[in-house]
Amino acid sequence: MTHLFPTYARYDVEIKDAKGAVAVDQNGKEYLDFISGIAVCNLGHCDEDVKKAVKQQLDKVWHVSNLFQSSIQEETARLLTENSSGDAVFFCNSGAEANEAAIKLARKHTGKSKILTFRQSFHGRTFATMSATGQSKIHDGFGPLLPSFEYLPYNDSEALEQIAGDDYAAIMLEVIQGEGGVVPAEQTFMNAVKKACTRLGALLIIDEVQTGIGRTGKPFAYQHYGADPDIITSAKGLANGFPAGAMIGKKELVSSFQPGSHGTTFGGNPLAMAAAKATLEKIFDPAFLEDVNRKAEKMTDLLKNVLSGAEEVEDIRGKGFMIGIQLKQEAAPLIAELRLNGLLALPAGPTVIRLLPPLTVTDEEMSAAADIIGKSLRETAGSLS
Ligand SMILES: *Cc1c(COP(=O)(O)O)cnc(C)c1O
Repeated sequence: MTHLFPTYARYDVEIKDAKGAVAVDQNGKEYLDFISGIAVCNLGHCDEDVKKAVKQQLDKVWHVSNLFQSSIQEETARLLTENSSGDAVFFCNSGAEANEAAIKLARKHTGKSKILTFRQSFHGRTFATMSATGQSKIHDGFGPLLPSFEYLPYNDSEALEQIAGDDYAAIMLEVIQGEGGVVPAEQTFMNAVKKACTRLGALLIIDEVQTGIGRTGKPFAYQHYGADPDIITSAKGLANGFPAGAMIGKKELVSSFQPGSHGTTFGGNPLAMAAAKATLEKIFDPAFLEDVNRKAEKMTDLLKNVLSGAEEVEDIRGKGFMIGIQLKQEAAPLIAELRLNGLLALPAGPTVIRLLPPLTVTDEEMSAAADIIGKSLRETAGSLS
């Protein structure tokens, strides 16, 4: 029997070995991994530079309390702030913790309580971040939730214009809803969000846990929209597989957190910082991001090619290497077929196939993946409809 809580519907596959975009299971079967640990291993599995940085740190010191100075936290924070609208960083261990810190900072800084979020959003599983998440399937059975979270329909500027009141601490959103179905924000909606923040005196929190760290071809996805967030949250791809999270805030907010306001034992751990620093040095290089954009465009073309005329496909959308294939039917059977044919892909909601290849994927691997998708769709076409 299993000694694990059954919190995940696990596939009958165990990845024993992985390098780059290729993962190998318990039977020696090879897959192209277009999940990347859910947008975590953005440099591919076992990146040599990240590995080297962690190994060097392993020989020096593994853990020290945040009561001590940390130059590696400073250096990693500098990379994050130089590539975003933020000026200071709080390090933690996960996306939920980064969002938790953002919500705490927004309330403390503004002295207000309400947080406006959006339906189909996903912000995490802790009480505050679950309350921020606009999906009842995440809430069910755990009530009462935290008070003062309100949900509006996503990409609905009019609904936002109708909000009034003087108790809004923040508007919080993903600029591409990940778990909610790979749904990008429209530019007009982002403009409406900015206006609403100004009108309500609310901070703008952008959850970049899935979209950040080069995933969409820019350091952070909000940069496609000319947005200017007060707080950005990051995790998933931040340390290429080592657990790490970060809450990045503007300088005006810095003094609202003082010694004792917030903290964590493991956040900013030297091994995690060694991994994060090595990861960011590679991904935030403009030449690297330029190549990501070139390849992502090519990937979209390849998909349009193999899926053209496929009746089951309604839409291909996303940005950079965060790609959603909207089907007219359940995604699970096709995802199982993809796995059989050697491609790992994720669902996003019931009817979307989500592709999150490593940013280092090669042109040959992209072509092979597109071929598997075309073949799998043809194979399952009869049985699915
Ligand atoms: C995954 C995710 C989170 C939660 O991150 P954890 O590290 O699992 O706590 C929060 N927000 C978004 C947008 C995510 O994709």
